[in-house]
Amino acid sequence: DPPSEKYEYQAEVSRLMDLIVHSLYSNKEVFLRELISNASDALDKLRYLSVTQPELLRDAVDLDIRIHTDKDNGIITLTDSGIGMTRQELVDCLGTIAQSGTAKFFKALKDSKEAGADSNLIGQFGVGFYSAFLVADKVVVSTKSPKSEKQFVWEGEANANSYTIREETDQDKLIPRGTRITLYLKRDDKGFAHPERIENLIKNYSQFVSFPIFTWKEKGFTKEVEIEEDPTEAQKDAEEDGNVEKKKKTKKVIEKYWDWELINETQPIWLRNPKDVTTDEYNEFYKKTFNEYLDPLASSHFTTEGEVEFRSILFVPPVKKEDMLNTKTKNIRLYVKRVFISDDFDGELFPRYLSFVKGVVDSNDLPLNVSREILQESRIVRIMRKRLVRKAFDMILGISLSENRDDYDKFWDNFGKFLKLGCIEDHPNHKRIAPLLRFFSSQSEDELISLDEYVESMKQEQKDIYYIAADSLTSAKNAPFLEKLSQKDFEVLFLVDPMDELAIQNLKTYKEKNFVDISKEDLDLGDKDEEKEKEIKQEFVQTCDWIKKQLGDKVASVQISNRLSSSPCVLVSGKFGWSANMERLMKAQTL
Ligand code: ADP
Ligand code: MG
Repeated sequence: DPPSEKYEYQAEVSRLMDLIVHSLYSNKEVFLRELISNASDALDKLRYLSVTQPELLRDAVDLDIRIHTDKDNGIITLTDSGIGMTRQELVDCLGTIAQSGTAKFFKALKDSKEAGADSNLIGQFGVGFYSAFLVADKVVVSTKSPKSEKQFVWEGEANANSYTIREETDQDKLIPRGTRITLYLKRDDKGFAHPERIENLIKNYSQFVSFPIFTWKEKGFTKEVEIEEDPTEAQKDAEEDGNVEKKKKTKKVIEKYWDWELINETQPIWLRNPKDVTTDEYNEFYKKTFNEYLDPLASSHFTTEGEVEFRSILFVPPVKKEDMLNTKTKNIRLYVKRVFISDDFDGELFPRYLSFVKGVVDSNDLPLNVSREILQESRIVRIMRKRLVRKAFDMILGISLSENRDDYDKFWDNFGKFLKLGCIEDHPNHKRIAPLLRFFSSQSEDELISLDEYVESMKQEQKDIYYIAADSLTSAKNAPFLEKLSQKDFEVLFLVDPMDELAIQNLKTYKEKNFVDISKEDLDLGDKDEEKEKEIKQEFVQTCDWIKKQLGDKVASVQISNRLSSSPCVLVSGKFGWSANMERLMKAQTL
C-alpha cells in the first residue's frame, strides 16, 4: 500500500459535507448519537459473526464503546471493539453514500426549510457518519478489521473535497480490533470535550444501546494522611523528658485519578417487567431504536411462554412512510438470546400488509446462526408469526377503543389501506381485521363508522349490509340507487376509497350478514310484490324493447326496476359483472 493516498469524495458526499458545514446549525450534538449508533452497529455485526467464528473475539474479548475527552485541546476519541473496516470498506463506507439516501435527505431538509434546518434528520438517511463534521474540523478514523492484517487511517477535513487513507504506523495507536474515531473540534464546539457533557448526551440520546459505554472521567476518593505539625514548646519539653509519645496528626485529603466509568444501563428494555417500564421509556426506546422523532401511537410489550418462548415490544408508528409496501422497511429487529440478528426478516415474521408495525423480537428458541431459509422453514417461526400478528391486532384494537377518537382516526388515515389489503391477503384473520375497518355511510357522511356501529343501527327488517362504491362522497350521496333505501331508512356504506370494494368483497360477510352492492341488478330489499311486478313488466315490455334497440350494444339489457322512486332510470351493473367502480379501478390500475 502507498503511504497515504488521496481520494475524491463522490459528488453527493461533497454536497452533503457542504450542507453540513454551512447550513446545519441546530442540534449539532446529534453527532454523538450517530457515532455511537455506528459503533453499536459494528459491535452487533461482530457479535453476530462471532457466534459461528468465536476466534473473532480472540483479540479483544470485551465488546464496548469508550469515549475519551481532552478538554484542553478540544479532542474527542470514540473507540469501539466492533467489526472495523478494511481499506476498501473505508472507501466504500466513508467516501460514498447511496444516492437514494441523499436525495431523500436533501428533500427532507428542503421540506423543513433549508437554512438552519434540523440536524436531527441526518441519522434517518444513512448519512450519520458525516454528522461528525457538524462539530469537527478534522475527523480521523483508525480502524482494524479482522479480515485485514493491517490497521488503516481515514482522514478528512470539513471544507475539503477529498480525504486520505494510509496505514496506521504509530505503534501507540494500534488497536486489536474495531474503530477509533478522533474528532478535532471546531473552535466554538470545543465545549463538547467534557466528560459531563458527553455523559449527558449519552443519557439523552443513547440510553438504549445494548453495549456498555464508558467515558474517561476524573474521580476522587478521600484518604487520611498523616501530617506532622510543629510541636508546641510544652510538647517539646514533655517529649524530651520522655513523658509522652510523639503525637500523630492526620487530615483528610481527596486523591484524584482518572478512570473509565460506565454510563448506560445495558439491560434491554424488553427483558424488563412491563409493569416497571413507563410509557415515556417505551416512547424513547421507539424513537431511539427506529430513528424516529414522533412518539408512537401505541405499543405492546409481551412475553409468550409455553411451546415457543419469546419477548417482544411492538409499536404502531404515528405516521406512514411513503411507499411502505415496496421498500425494505427494517421494521422488526430480530434478536436471538439478546444477540441482534437482523432487521431484514420482517417479511418472515409479519405479513406484508402489517409491515407498518415496528418492534423488537427476542427469541430463545431459534439458533443463533438463523438465516432467512431457516426462518421460512421453521415451525417455531410459524408459531411466533401467528402470535405476533395477534398481538399486533390487539394493539390496534386498543387504539380503536381509546377514549380519544382522534387516535384511531389518525391510525386509520395512515394505515387503513394496509388493513384493507389484509382483507384481500389474509382470509384467516378476517375476524380480526373486519372490526377495525371504517367507512362513511349515508347516515354518517362526516364521521367514519365501524361495521359494529352499522350492524347495531340496522333496522329490524333489514337482513343485509348495504354498500355503494363510488369515486367520491358526492357521487355516492347522489346515486339514484340510494333512493329506495333512504326511504326505508336503511343505512348504506359509502365505499369511496378504491380499495374499499375489494376489501368488502373479500370479507363477503360480517356477523353473518352479507354485504350487498346496491348498484347490482338483483337488489332485493325484502319487499317484493311478485304479482304487481309481473303486471308492470308486462305493461312496459314494448317500451323496454324499444329502448334496448335504440341503445344497442351499449347495454346488456333494459329492465323494469323496483328500486327507484323519483329518478326515471338508472344504469346498473350485471349481477356477475364488475361494478362501475371496479371497472374504473381496473382501468386506472390503482392497485
Ligand atoms: P449508516 O449507519 O446508516 O449505514 P453512516 O453514515 O452512519 O450510515 O455510516 C456509514 C457506514 O460506515 C456504515 O454503514 C458502516 O459500514 C461504516 N461505519 C461507520 N462507523 C463504523 C464503525 N464504528 N465501525 C465499523 N463500520 C463503521
Ligand atoms: Mg449510522
